[in-house]
Amino acid sequence: MTDLMCSAKGCRESALWALRWNNPKLHDPQRRKTWLACEAHRDHLEHFLSARSFLRETISVTDLPDEA
Ligand SMILES: [Zn+2]
Repeated sequence: MTDLMCSAKGCRESALWALRWNNPKLHDPQRRKTWLACEAHRDHLEHFLSARSFLRETISVTDLPDEA
């Protein structure tokens, strides 16, 4: 079992997806912030990031690199 939890507000589901994003006004271009999403919240969170042109990629949490 994974202990990764969905980043959506109030959601306590296990995360299946990792949304990798970057805000060019705040972050270096290579920097990636990660939001975790359960199946139900993936679309919602992707839409939020896409609307702001922040979303870079969505990957499975199992493909998430180990980084603190
Ligand atoms: Zn969720």
